[in-house]
Amino acid sequence: MRNNLIAAGASIVMMGASAAHAQGIQITPAGTTPTTLGAAQNFNGHVAVDIKAAGGSSQHGSVGMVDFAPGARTAWHTHPVGQLLVVTDGQGWVQEDGGPRREIKAGDVIWIEAGVKHWHGAAQTNGMRHLAIAYVKDGKSADWKELVSDEQYNAR
Ligand code: MN
Repeated sequence: MRNNLIAAGASIVMMGASAAHAQGIQITPAGTTPTTLGAAQNFNGHVAVDIKAAGGSSQHGSVGMVDFAPGARTAWHTHPVGQLLVVTDGQGWVQEDGGPRREIKAGDVIWIEAGVKHWHGAAQTNGMRHLAIAYVKDGKSADWKELVSDEQYNAR
């Protein structure tokens, strides 16, 4: 009986040591990464970006929760591998170069193919928030181009 208890205790100590040295899971605690404002060369209007990354995750994908005020939008851009958008709040628009402006709303999931020139942003009268997941190739997840003019933004 006594030997069994000692054996059990030793095995708990070993598990504890193993957990303390494990590096396989890394956690970025909530609130430790500051919100940044979208750079004026890549965005029109007020855009707040919360980067979501932990450990080496950003080597593989750029993940951000992006909050667009009404009228705010990205510049035209492409993604080298593609991008998944998950709209979490509000109403917005997405447009592929040469195609119509399309409405997106909370709950919608959008896939943008590699190399497709496009923009995304809020609608004119309502804000929009989405989680944006862009995969990385050769260290890049986006190629930025010109801003979306008011005329382009308002065109149907
Ligand atoms: Mn995009």
